[in-house]
Amino acid sequence: MPTSPYRGRIAPSPTGFLHLGHARTFWIAQERARQAGGTLILRVEDLDTARCKPEFTAALQEDLRWFGFQWAEGPDCGGPHGPYVQSARTPLYLELLERLRVGGFVYPCRCSRRDVQLAAGAPHPGEEEPLYPGTCRPKAAGAIAPEGLTGVHWRFRVPQGERLFFTDGARGPQTALAGSDFGDFVVWRRDGVPAYQLAVVADDMAMGITEVVRGADLLLSTFRQLLIYRALGFTPPAFYHAPLLCDPATGLRLAKRHAALSLRQLRAGGAMPGVLRRGWAN
Ligand code: GLU
Repeated sequence: MPTSPYRGRIAPSPTGFLHLGHARTFWIAQERARQAGGTLILRVEDLDTARCKPEFTAALQEDLRWFGFQWAEGPDCGGPHGPYVQSARTPLYLELLERLRVGGFVYPCRCSRRDVQLAAGAPHPGEEEPLYPGTCRPKAAGAIAPEGLTGVHWRFRVPQGERLFFTDGARGPQTALAGSDFGDFVVWRRDGVPAYQLAVVADDMAMGITEVVRGADLLLSTFRQLLIYRALGFTPPAFYHAPLLCDPATGLRLAKRHAALSLRQLRAGGAMPGVLRRGWAN
């Protein structure tokens, strides 16, 4: 039983097999929840229908259990804040999109598919979207008439020139300039799918997450998400961005393409989780 109100989560996307880099970040999340006497939640972020596959959803749960993860709420064990897969939570995302629209925080955008593809997923280093040039941004802020959800993207209007701040649990004070470090970003895709930035805020809020622990590659996304929290009038959780694990041979960040370091492959090769975790004391 949890002895504190701390609620943390691990939120993999089933776009491939999990690797040691994911395990390292999730391990920090689990340790922080454990040390706080709190609850750890598993949430599967499977909104990107083109890249996510059900077999990866099954595999990630098996791989995480093998590695030594234990979650109190998740797709396999349920819990009071389910469902724990994003593809089953669309009504919540729609409700929040509607609130953003009525509040005048978003506008419809007809810009190219490529812009939007870049904007829609969780951006990682080297994948940061280019600054949106403002082509479809209305001159004046204000509520926009509903347009139907397909056929247009919905973009969040960032407060150009506002300096944003937050204190990261691992890295201390952080700052970014809205409109320069990142621009208006997509919260809803033209194909009717909510974008990562909106879904993650909706879920962290609805699941009562008190601290988000994730990789440092998502630092800039945190500023986008803080703007969504503010627009919706929600208090944001605390954030803790863990350093990324690099491939010792190349010094590059581990990615799903490093198949040799997938948990699957390590397990098949007889690796022991306790040995893999050596020296990982948070
Ligand atoms: N599902 C995201 C990813 O795999 C992580 C999102 C998050 O922790 O906020 O990159």
